[in-house]
Amino acid sequence: MTRAVLAIDGAAPTRAQMLPYGRHLIDDGDVAAVVGALKSGWLTTGPAVDEFEAAFAKAAGAGEAVAVANGTAALHAAAFGAGICPGDEVITTPLTFAATANCVRYQGGTVVFADVRRDTLNIDPAHVAALVTPRTKAIITVDYAGQPSDLDELSALAERHGLVLIEDASHALGATYRNRRVGSLARMTTFSLHPVKHVTTGEGGMVTTDDPELAARLRRFRSHGILSDFRQREQAGSWVYDMAVLGFNYRLTDLQAALGLSQLPKLDDWLARRRAIAARYTAAFATLEAVEPPTALPDRECAWHIYVIRLRADRLRADRARVFQALRAENIGVNVHYVPVPWHSYYAALGYRKGAWPIAEDAYERMITLPIFPGMTDADVADVIAAMTKVVEHYAR
Ligand SMILES: *Cc1c(COP(=O)(O)O)cnc(C)c1O
Repeated sequence: MTRAVLAIDGAAPTRAQMLPYGRHLIDDGDVAAVVGALKSGWLTTGPAVDEFEAAFAKAAGAGEAVAVANGTAALHAAAFGAGICPGDEVITTPLTFAATANCVRYQGGTVVFADVRRDTLNIDPAHVAALVTPRTKAIITVDYAGQPSDLDELSALAERHGLVLIEDASHALGATYRNRRVGSLARMTTFSLHPVKHVTTGEGGMVTTDDPELAARLRRFRSHGILSDFRQREQAGSWVYDMAVLGFNYRLTDLQAALGLSQLPKLDDWLARRRAIAARYTAAFATLEAVEPPTALPDRECAWHIYVIRLRADRLRADRARVFQALRAENIGVNVHYVPVPWHSYYAALGYRKGAWPIAEDAYERMITLPIFPGMTDADVADVIAAMTKVVEHYAR
């Protein structure tokens, strides 16, 4: 085996410029769409938002889509829609972005973290079942890396105990589960339209549901809890409006919706590119003993928001931090998704203690996120594979 000198030890890096782990794509059509919206007369929530919601609902296979200001607002709206109140418990995964759990706290609820499956790193339905109490109100599952959760098992569990199933599909726009599209498989599904996600509106989010009455309540929530929106009032020629519930200003603007409308038709091509990159990585890493590639289950199609490998400590003379730094030195913009949510000092102060989620915590200690985004060239992909191979062979036991 060759032990090449690494960039971290002074050699030239694999590539001259840092490759980010994710990056959006904006073309001239996107620019024209936003300029068109600027000239349309509507700046905030108007006809472009209506049109974007309809297009998004179709793409997600859902009856309704409610556009909001960001993915965190989508989760907050879903927590509101589920009726989460102080005293309620909500079961979610520790291996997610903090916002997934935070939305429960916004509503005054208690977060209960269930451990994940070792293969997919999605929440384990058996662990969820063991944590259900009479106070449990909802389950928020996350489609980690873009691979749909065990939605049939979680739906059955929710049905049996009268719980609301919320799916945080921030990673999974365009994914399918047993030939059904993510977006209609839970009571509410939330999406993020942040630039690192599959399609972007700059900042933005969406909640999909098949229930029109629930969608109406979410639209009220995103606009101060006020019943009729400004346009309807204007048409009715009335100044009267009623704030029925405590809402927020979580509106998406028409500028953002115009960008989203222009981005959405590219989703299928972008998903195909992400899948091709993931397949190349997995094939290349099959021969690296120190690298465990992600598991993609055959009954669901992953949207590959992120590509996360786990290192095998027994095959390496270096720890994860060293391998991570060595890859950064090669100009590969690696990342880690995620620090377990209960480890954050805010949650630690609420009494959560390390060690309660051994599978998620072990995965966190060993994981590295590699770059994956539709604009990556074949040469970029080859650089990642070359750097990964060079680094793990250098540190091989
Ligand atoms: C991105 C993300 C969010 C938050 O989305 P924002 O649009 O940044 O607010 C929530 N949950 C998960 C799993 C995410 O990846």
